[in-house]
Amino acid sequence: MNTDHNSTPVVTRFAPSPTGFMHIGGVRTALYAYLFAKKHKGTFILRIEDTDKNREVDGSITHIQESLKWLGLDWDFGPDSPGEFESCLQSDRLHIYKKYAEQLIAKGLAYPDPYTAEELATFRAEADAEKRPFLYRNHRPDTFKEWDGTQALRFKVPEVKRYTWHDEVRGELTAGEEMLDDVILIKADGYPTYNFAHIVDDLEMGVTHVMRGEEFISSTPKFLSIYDALEIPYPKLVTLPPIMGPDGKKKLSKRDGAKDLLEYRADGYLPEAMRNFLALVGWNPGGEQEMYRSSGEEQRLIEAFSIEKIQKSGGAFNEEKLLWMNKEYLKLQSADFQTQYFTEALPESFSEKPLYSEETLSKLAPVALERIHNKIEIRQAAEAGEYDWAFAAPKYEIGLLKWKNDESVANALPRLQKAILLLTEADFASPESIKSSLWAYAEEVGKGELLWPLRTCLSGQAQSPDPFTLSYVLGKSQTLSRIQTACDNIVE
Ligand code: GLU
Repeated sequence: MNTDHNSTPVVTRFAPSPTGFMHIGGVRTALYAYLFAKKHKGTFILRIEDTDKNREVDGSITHIQESLKWLGLDWDFGPDSPGEFESCLQSDRLHIYKKYAEQLIAKGLAYPDPYTAEELATFRAEADAEKRPFLYRNHRPDTFKEWDGTQALRFKVPEVKRYTWHDEVRGELTAGEEMLDDVILIKADGYPTYNFAHIVDDLEMGVTHVMRGEEFISSTPKFLSIYDALEIPYPKLVTLPPIMGPDGKKKLSKRDGAKDLLEYRADGYLPEAMRNFLALVGWNPGGEQEMYRSSGEEQRLIEAFSIEKIQKSGGAFNEEKLLWMNKEYLKLQSADFQTQYFTEALPESFSEKPLYSEETLSKLAPVALERIHNKIEIRQAAEAGEYDWAFAAPKYEIGLLKWKNDESVANALPRLQKAILLLTEADFASPESIKSSLWAYAEEVGKGELLWPLRTCLSGQAQSPDPFTLSYVLGKSQTLSRIQTACDNIVE
């Protein structure tokens, strides 16, 4: 395999069409192009392929840029920073495509399409009726008129032959005559087609490695025939594997829950987690390591990345793994970050609760984050009442405090009274320090005998974190007051 990129500096590009949605597949293409360029200290270009004005969706260019920025894929040249390229928007580069089109006209390799839409439709219908593929070249006129820019400009494919080429991931590929046709280079509206524009731009921008999905393999002979006609070298072609749904059998679709990238942001996925996760969908570095952080001692993603380890076959989009990875990255965040993350995810109404404070939030956040994977789960847990104990003294039936081995809830009273004494002296710096002040007594009277009534009187819930964690989050005075209230209620 020839991936000798030491001699020429690597240049890659991500070339989305502004159609409004940042698919996970497109994002992964951008990620690989970015990683590969950065690994080789090369250049990563963001080029907007906006030549199909009917498909363009307002706001997409901003959306694409926001998405890539969020993921940390900073481009060297792009719509906002075209540098020497004049513009990274194809719609601004029409004169450049025209210049190359004129070279082909001069060589007798491009001609204006003389047919009306109706005539073409008739040719197509005839081919369909005879169950043969429609090939424009079968209708190529014998003599060409001069192109005045108002008709489509077609490529006169010089040679109809089988092409064999090298793909950096898939090795030798071949496709044949049936793919070669007199394709449109420039449409009647003056905009170039993808087939033509991307070749001109890749050449002009010095792109060395074209990374894209397998849907372009079948069209590659068309591209190669245009490179040949322009007498320009082929870039290295790097076909990325498709992203499959969780079962690994079908391509990922919206039905599998695939979302726009920025929806993942809204759901509380961290960009580092998303980047790490997506890198591993279709790239297999081997070995046990799964976490490739942006910094730290572990091997970083950029350094680890290589084309050699891109898989040929599809990579499954395993949402469970994404959840796991997000949780791992959440754990690595600073306490301040975790508090802010947790606070943002809580429903608005929580800010009106009596014990809502910076302090409660900062103590509760790491506890909550031990069990959840993203902001959606925080919101769900909050709505299910799982955090209510932290923000207001609970209301509960006193019978809840009865431990299963006790005859009556009254058995809990002396234990809770003793707990008040022990906790009054306790150090509330951490759940562990609280535990150490109660543990000997719990072993003496029975763990369930003490810890059940203690936990339930603090949380008011049959299920909750352990009483040491509850006490730590609540702080000493709130903890003691809740136990005292329980004792008062038992006595009554
Ligand atoms: N505009 C094309 C697309 O969005 C780009 C394909 C390519 O990378 O060459 O599919």
